[in-house]
Amino acid sequence: MHSSRSDSEKDVFTLADLSGWPQDRTWLAVLGHPIHHSISPAMHNAALVTMAKSDPRFSTWRYVRFDVPPEELPEALKRLHALKFLGLNLTLPHKVLAFDRVWRVDTAAQPIGAVNTLRWSPEGWEGFNTDGHGLATALQEDLRAGDLQNAAIVLLGAGGAARGAAVEMLQRGCASLWIANRTTANRDALLDSVRPLATRSTLHGFDPQRPPADLPTGAWVINATSAGLRPTDPAPIDLRLLRKPAGVYDMIYNPPQTPLLAQAASLGLPSTNGLSMLVHQGARALGIWSGASVPVKEMRRAAEASLKRD
Ligand code: NDP
Repeated sequence: MHSSRSDSEKDVFTLADLSGWPQDRTWLAVLGHPIHHSISPAMHNAALVTMAKSDPRFSTWRYVRFDVPPEELPEALKRLHALKFLGLNLTLPHKVLAFDRVWRVDTAAQPIGAVNTLRWSPEGWEGFNTDGHGLATALQEDLRAGDLQNAAIVLLGAGGAARGAAVEMLQRGCASLWIANRTTANRDALLDSVRPLATRSTLHGFDPQRPPADLPTGAWVINATSAGLRPTDPAPIDLRLLRKPAGVYDMIYNPPQTPLLAQAASLGLPSTNGLSMLVHQGARALGIWSGASVPVKEMRRAAEASLKRD
């Protein structure tokens, strides 16, 4: 029953679908709540079709999505492990919840306190976080930001995505990290938690309404707030208040254009949306599960096509 249904990227499964789940494939899945908007199945299944051309092993791999409310996450992790799902991606609200529920967390993901990729092992789930890799690769590819060492970074937001971004930038040895957030207490909590990683970087917090005068020119601005998801949202900062940034990266990819990106374009600043971050975090996850080289271009093509269909 499930084999044919699971082939469709439109399907959203729940835990109730797991009884009698077919064992004739290698299964990958994304868990979230809500999850119907996720384009990960389209992206990963397209990559697997390409990978199967050079290695037939991948022709039996399938990636599906599960709607799992937070209270069902422990049960979901247990049952999917028992069914030997090879890999899981986790999205809102599970990245932090799963952190303490997996068998082992990759060293690089420890300071983030969140995991977005799980790999099956006999002992339990191994947790990774590929969002930082996705962001850094996107900055390098789309905005030619270089290796980010010695870069000045202006990070907008203090939620889970901002935390991952802050850890990544500090681990890469950026020169300075400037964090701005609507709610000061959340910003300060993020600054406190990443301070131990700032061994090669200076760390600063500021009010997005009043950027400090000593903010350097040529900074990379990263939007990790959700301001811009809805058409009525304000931009998280007025870019004219910053000394001329090198470029603007908005993690939001749907809608593809946000007020922040529109302003960046009007000011002639290089800018791009979060699609390439999504693609690269997914490609890294598929690499972790498969140990094979992953067709990133194919994943991007499928992601773009899937967004156009929405
Ligand atoms: P969280 O809910 O954890 O954090 C939301 C953040 O946005 C907080 O800092 C919050 O500020 C801020 N915020 C929300 N609304 C506004 C507003 N109207 N004005 C200013 N600030 C606002 O979300 P995540 O960190 O998980 O995700 C943040 C964004 O990143 C989302 O849009 C998500 O889609 C995107 N993302 C993209 C990825 C990709 O692959 N491209 C991967 C992961 C996330 P406050 O503290 O004041 O509430």
